Amino acid sequence: MEGDTLGYSLFWDEAINQLRSEISEQEFSMWFSGMSYVGCNEEAITVSVPSYFYRDQVKQRYLTRIEEKLQELSGRNFSLDFEIRPARQSEKPVPTQPTTQPKQNAKRGKPHPELRPEYTFENFVIGENNSFAANAAMAIARNPGTGYNPCLVYGGVGLGKTHLVQSIGNSVHHEFRDLKVVYVTAENFTNEFIRSIREKKMHQFKNKYRYADVLLIDDIHFLQKKTETQEELFHTFNALYDANKQMVFTCDRPVSELRELADRLRSRFERGLNVDLQPPSYETRFAILKKKMEAAGVQIPEEVISLISANVTTNVRDLESALTKLIAYAELVNKNITLDIAKQQLKDVFSNPKQSNISIDLIQRQVAEYFGLSTNDLKGKKRTQVITFPRQLAMYITREITEYSTTEVGLEFGGRDHTTVMHACQRIESRMRTDATLEPTIQNIIRTIKEKSAR
Ligand code: ADP
Ligand code: MG
Repeated sequence: MEGDTLGYSLFWDEAINQLRSEISEQEFSMWFSGMSYVGCNEEAITVSVPSYFYRDQVKQRYLTRIEEKLQELSGRNFSLDFEIRPARQSEKPVPTQPTTQPKQNAKRGKPHPELRPEYTFENFVIGENNSFAANAAMAIARNPGTGYNPCLVYGGVGLGKTHLVQSIGNSVHHEFRDLKVVYVTAENFTNEFIRSIREKKMHQFKNKYRYADVLLIDDIHFLQKKTETQEELFHTFNALYDANKQMVFTCDRPVSELRELADRLRSRFERGLNVDLQPPSYETRFAILKKKMEAAGVQIPEEVISLISANVTTNVRDLESALTKLIAYAELVNKNITLDIAKQQLKDVFSNPKQSNISIDLIQRQVAEYFGLSTNDLKGKKRTQVITFPRQLAMYITREITEYSTTEVGLEFGGRDHTTVMHACQRIESRMRTDATLEPTIQNIIRTIKEKSAR
């Protein structure tokens, strides 16, 4: 290898720059930030990458384009050679894809106490809605701490965030036995932190989190307003980051949309790779149902699967619960599942799904418009009856048709306390009992909201 003596690295730099302008920044950072130029000779340019997985992905996605660019720029035919960098000392040879069913847990060593064993990559169906996040997660699992660090996965309720980060945890736990994987929800992190202060066991808390090799924190939107926990996480983050330990976070929205989060923590979350999960398409919903059905060991006619796929459009959790409901019924009455039974049993599910991908913002806009107010009125401090009632109604509707918690709803309504939201819902419910016109009004508004949110 001649290093840079031929000056061909210029061609390489330029080719990569061109490619960068053609793909998204996210994609670029995903596949090229972990790659470095090694050297070249007359025929080939050599780069190094962190893993075989990474090499194969880059080859599949970009090899032709890069080689074409190199040829245009230099007038010669360069091929691109890949070297795999030894990532860390404890790394074992890259595991090959399991060829058998992932039922071999007994052979794979002890399950991880904080992770659900069924949350694995093998059980995660990849579709166009999640392939980017899934590929990033798999790359991380093969080479924790070396490439995409930190990684933040965001997306609405029931779209697979927890499944995906736990898959990373399970995979690392089984493939790299000497690495310590720690999984925690932001809520439990907060509770443990508070308890450790109260019981004067801070060092125990710090030991747990600062000696993790892979730290997975689920649902960081929960940290909003928890200033001291944020501060603690900030220090944990820095300690792990400096030690090249892998961190993966999940959030129900892009970090930029989180309120009540310290800027320095926000910028840490945004530092690495941010990937999103979208609701699955019809085809992916169908594939997910088939997989779940096989896992459950039941037979369900294709027409029933397509019926469910067509009608449950919100997220994977709703899809699963429709299927579970159907299976439970069939077992209970000891009947085969037919199209008629499915239609009958899932009537309610189809007509009134919790439309969890509806945004609070949309609800606020709709309610405000209905009452001739602005969304700022709903979020603001004024307590005149003209505003209070619509505000309470908007909170009530949010609780009815989304899965946001009272805490989250409170935050979105001008940083109000969760008890305020609970109180608002009670007020509306008691008014409905005395005022018969209210219920149809509410249904009317909900219908408009759902229509607007269905793309
Ligand atoms: P989130 O954490 O985003 O709310 P979860 O990870 O809890 O969502 O997913 C909800 C349910 O849907 C889980 O049971 C999970 O296994 C399942 N699920 C989500 N995405 C997929 C997928 N792509 N393939 C298979 N199952 C999925
Ligand atoms: Mg989750």
